[in-house]
Amino acid sequence: MPAAWETVVGLETHVQLRTVSKMFCGCSAAFGAPPNTNVCPVCLGLPGALPVPNELALKLAARAALALGCTVHAKSVFARKNYFYPDLPKGYQISQFEQPLATDGTLSYLSPERGIATATIVRLHVEEDAGKLLHDRFPKETAIDLNRCGVPLIEIVTGPDFRSPQEARAYLLTLKQVLEYAGASDCDMEKGSLRVDTNVSVRRAGETALGTKVEVKNINSFAYVEKALTVERDRQIALLEAGGTVEQQTMLYDAKTNSVRPQRSKEESHDYRYFPDPDLPPLVLKPEFIEEQRAALPELPATKRERFTAQYALGVDDAAVLTAERAVADYYEAVVHAGAEPKAAANWVRTEVLADAKDHEETLRVPPSALAQLIGLVKGGTLSHQAAKRVFGEVAERGGEPRNVAEALGLVQVADTGVVAGWVSEVLGAHTTEVTRYKNGETKLMPFFIGQVMKVSRGKADPKLTQRVIEEQLAS
Ligand SMILES: [Zn+2]
Repeated sequence: MPAAWETVVGLETHVQLRTVSKMFCGCSAAFGAPPNTNVCPVCLGLPGALPVPNELALKLAARAALALGCTVHAKSVFARKNYFYPDLPKGYQISQFEQPLATDGTLSYLSPERGIATATIVRLHVEEDAGKLLHDRFPKETAIDLNRCGVPLIEIVTGPDFRSPQEARAYLLTLKQVLEYAGASDCDMEKGSLRVDTNVSVRRAGETALGTKVEVKNINSFAYVEKALTVERDRQIALLEAGGTVEQQTMLYDAKTNSVRPQRSKEESHDYRYFPDPDLPPLVLKPEFIEEQRAALPELPATKRERFTAQYALGVDDAAVLTAERAVADYYEAVVHAGAEPKAAANWVRTEVLADAKDHEETLRVPPSALAQLIGLVKGGTLSHQAAKRVFGEVAERGGEPRNVAEALGLVQVADTGVVAGWVSEVLGAHTTEVTRYKNGETKLMPFFIGQVMKVSRGKADPKLTQRVIEEQLAS
């Protein structure tokens, strides 16, 4: 991007709350059911059906708001957002407008350009989802699946705080982490439980007024957020540099062609004629309810990262990787509590454990106590690091106590001086040329001798003892 321009981005993120049922009725909110099977008079908007707010959804929404440092208001109001679209049988979506559930939060994230940056959370409100138009079921025809109608969502709106597409993505990944920790959502973009609309404008460097913003919609992966914003930013800059003006409009992102196109005007709706939903009284939350939700929050990622660096003397990088997911952070702490040295445990979790989890649907297959025992065996010299990795794999596949598994596999290191001395004699006898060179000052040959002993002993010789015995024999 030419340095003469600055990008300004704001994000509106829709997140599905992790409930069993929908926002205002008892229908299942599960993903993947056959089309139009999770519906009832309420979510279909049949006459006379009355909505009842889902208490768990309200709890999760309040937890999400508190995790983002928002003020949760004692009173908020459900409003009807009126528009016509085939995926919305009621003709309106229940949302919140003038009095949202929560306002004024912040979320700090790591900007690739500016280091730690803070996004403002302008508002967080509760709403229900609409249905889905399916364009790929029947040739030349559009089908409608209303299963998503009434699925509980929160919308999280930031200020125009991001200065690059990369920052927007970094914020989203941090947001996902916090919402997962808070248990509010699984944030699975593939299943549509996290969707992003963006506002983009550009201005000449040094200007303080905001440029005309364009909304870019239809973004359904973290990678596409960055791509869509880049495409739209470049379009605006090219337009302005050619002497044109940016029109305030809504663009749709097409991932297949990596391009944006204006939304057709009939797809737009400028006036939603919001008004308080007469079927739903104002939502009044008691202070105790809000405090209960605050108390229900676990330690959040930022706090956990700081504690990990202080308590376990870990680097910032280790702490960031280990706390990225709550399950991994809990696992790491369980390994340390089972007696493993914190730094060694961090190395094991970051490498073997996460690699194994990645290949096995994120399951942490080796129990924390077993990993702690394994780390102890390496530290005590019973197992080489290489051998321990084999034992880890074996325990992951078939279970068992690491010590027993190591013995069964014949991997236990031999720390018996007599046995090691035998291997060393054999190696030195077979490499007389190298022995002479070593004695003439080529001490860099030591790793060669150790390697040969490892070969002869099939990896079982204790490396430290081996080096000592080699030095002794070569000195004699
Ligand atoms: Zn329903």
